[in-house]
Amino acid sequence: MKLSKRVQTLTPSSTLAISAKAQALKKSGEDVISLGVGEPDFNTPAFIIEAAVKAMKDGQTKYTPSGGIVELKEAIARKFKHDNHLDYTLDEIIVTTGAKHALYTAFQAILDEGDEVIIPAPYWVSYTEQVKLSGGIPVIVETEEANDFKLTADQLERAITDRTKALVINSPSNPTGMMYTRNELEKIGDVCLKHNIIIVSDEIYEKLIYTNVNHVSMAEISQSLKNQTIVINGVSKSHAMTGWRIGYAAGPKSLIQAMTNHASHTTSNPTTIAQYAALAAYSEQSASIDEMKNVFAERLNTLYDLIEDIPGMSCRKPHGAFYLFPNVKEVVAMNGFSSTDEWVKHCLKQRKLL
Ligand code: PLP
Repeated sequence: MKLSKRVQTLTPSSTLAISAKAQALKKSGEDVISLGVGEPDFNTPAFIIEAAVKAMKDGQTKYTPSGGIVELKEAIARKFKHDNHLDYTLDEIIVTTGAKHALYTAFQAILDEGDEVIIPAPYWVSYTEQVKLSGGIPVIVETEEANDFKLTADQLERAITDRTKALVINSPSNPTGMMYTRNELEKIGDVCLKHNIIIVSDEIYEKLIYTNVNHVSMAEISQSLKNQTIVINGVSKSHAMTGWRIGYAAGPKSLIQAMTNHASHTTSNPTTIAQYAALAAYSEQSASIDEMKNVFAERLNTLYDLIEDIPGMSCRKPHGAFYLFPNVKEVVAMNGFSSTDEWVKHCLKQRKLL
């Protein structure tokens, strides 16, 4: 079968490939820990599961409005007000099938063929592929480890062309765990306003922060930046709800209307039962959420120290998310390899895992 050019340019997700490999090894009896996919290992808190069961028993098993049920949008609006000092009306919010689909629908709504989207590297694997699927061109800007892998206003200015349509900001970041300060966002925001660039602000790890750095949303910096920003968030990481597939986006009304029209033809609506589960997640304060965060913090501290003890490895300590992004250049060179991939394969072979 001849496949479209569009799908032929897609790179398969490397994180999913690593997880598949780990799973295969586990199946064959090897004692491996899978660190591929970004997913809490806890089950979803019981009160959320119970809310979903109740919703099903109450007959909430039909289609909902494409952009999500009103009660959930109201809960999301309250969350924005409480956590981010942001006022969004319900027509400025769309509930989606995970944050991933919020991002995809946003790119579909803003990009025309050949529009460029600036993505600071290192970045989460799906941004580039979603931009390509939407007809856009990903423009990767390498950041400096010395600057905590954060894009500077100068780097942004240099990457802008007359085709630049949008910039992706992910704070806390997957994979580095770094976070932008208000001051850094202000400078980046000024450049975006000057060149009329839309900011896609992926804040999915907002609730997983382990230091005293405050999360700041690009949209809360000024009204003009709010008008220019699409905020992406969801319950997957904050509430151990990856499999329920509930995310959301907030932004200007015309954009949200376009995204809702798009969703009405692609997903119809995010799963009804999962929307009621997310409503419970946002309506109740639960100690279980903090408990999960405390366990992540403990693991981070343990692993960080272990990595720092390996000769030739170094790592900037993350503020948020649940990833470590160690610098292995020295270890790779010390062992006589020219690429990280080769060295990893060698390690796996040594343990007879490849
Ligand atoms: N954004 C980032 C940076 C992520 O790491 C992920 C998931 O790994 C997502 C978005 C997607 O989240 P969801 O599972 O809600 O689609």
